[in-house]
Amino acid sequence: MKRLVVLAAVLAFCACTWASDPPLTYVRAGKLLDVRSGKILTDQVIVIRGDKIERVASAAQVQIPAGANVVDLSRATVLPGLIDAHTHLFLTGEDNGRYDEQLLKESWQYRTIEAVVNAKRDLDAGFTAMRDVETEGAMYSDVDVRNAINRGLIPGPRLQVATRAISTTGGYPLEGYSPEVTVPSGAQIVDGPEEARKAVREQIKYGADLIKIYGTHKFHFTPDGTMVSVPTFTLEEVTAIVNEAHSEGRKVACHAYGGAGLKNCLDGGVDSIEHGLDLDDGAVAEMATKGIWLVPTLYVYEGPTRTEDNASSGGKVSRASLHEPSFQKAMAAGVKIAFGTDVGPFPHGTQAVEFELMTKFGMSPLAAIQSATVRAAELMGWSDQVGVISPGNFADIIAVEGNPLEDIKQLEQVKFVMKGGVVVRSNLAK
Ligand SMILES: [Zn+2]
Repeated sequence: MKRLVVLAAVLAFCACTWASDPPLTYVRAGKLLDVRSGKILTDQVIVIRGDKIERVASAAQVQIPAGANVVDLSRATVLPGLIDAHTHLFLTGEDNGRYDEQLLKESWQYRTIEAVVNAKRDLDAGFTAMRDVETEGAMYSDVDVRNAINRGLIPGPRLQVATRAISTTGGYPLEGYSPEVTVPSGAQIVDGPEEARKAVREQIKYGADLIKIYGTHKFHFTPDGTMVSVPTFTLEEVTAIVNEAHSEGRKVACHAYGGAGLKNCLDGGVDSIEHGLDLDDGAVAEMATKGIWLVPTLYVYEGPTRTEDNASSGGKVSRASLHEPSFQKAMAAGVKIAFGTDVGPFPHGTQAVEFELMTKFGMSPLAAIQSATVRAAELMGWSDQVGVISPGNFADIIAVEGNPLEDIKQLEQVKFVMKGGVVVRSNLAK
């Protein structure tokens, strides 16, 4: 009897050991883009244990045991999962132009259902991590989407979420309603350093991973074709936000086009400028010196937005026409650039088109890919988790058929997506 008990204990112990030992997966990579060096390595094997990368080595150095779980990407180019550092899961491209209606007529629950669909579209397109920079009136619902993804309830990229975003009175829609009517706001509205600090505390309390602020909001074009970008926060307000966020270990992303509102964000010590489409020399120099990131979001200002701007400026200027030289100036000055698209106003899952514009405006394909992998991971403080295929990082991997360094549009047709060692999608030709 005693012997049986011992035997049972040994068996239980073994079963327990087996169960807790994560399974191994071997990914054969015909070509593997090392995003740090820019080199394409051939015939590599990525050894994955559970959700993490354990080893990356040439095929000759790795013994794959018979019967092992092998993912064959030997005819593809493998690279790290892409990172979009500026997204809006709670805006749905198909609904563009219906901003007020979404806030007034759709419940947070309905909008969350849309966000779940959008998260899947982004993941399927190869975006395995994202910084979602505000819910546009859907309060803290992004925290729920992030948590549901992390708990494995729904598929989606790894998320950092900003929750509500912060602006000042008159500094964010909904706008244009009678003062007698109370309407919802797309962002949390504060005035003065005290309220600003309190909003940061509140947002972090309810789950914000980062703080998003509107350093500028309204803008217009003067008859001579200059863009005037109206500031929102004072320097004191930005400083209060940044100090509070930083003391709680959160970064601050500032939406700003140009002018005094941008300057207040830079002087106040934000971590990234979103859009930055009208940067002057002083702003670029300050960003380079202080290491403030630029998340440009070029594509969202093309198409209908360019047409509208041209109409309102008498054909003299558009946000898109300012953006190109602004982006180039930042690049030339060595400002740190992270890939971000503002996807939401246009359909989720289509944002890799941003790469085309970055390269069209003079960024090398490698630098554009780095901005969406190793660099975006750095901005998010996740360098030891994502953005590079290296031991210890999550096994977030994508594959394309051709060479993205020669044809950047390959990234618009990602054929294989793996997140945390699990295959999300595979459409590679056999
Ligand atoms: Zn945005």
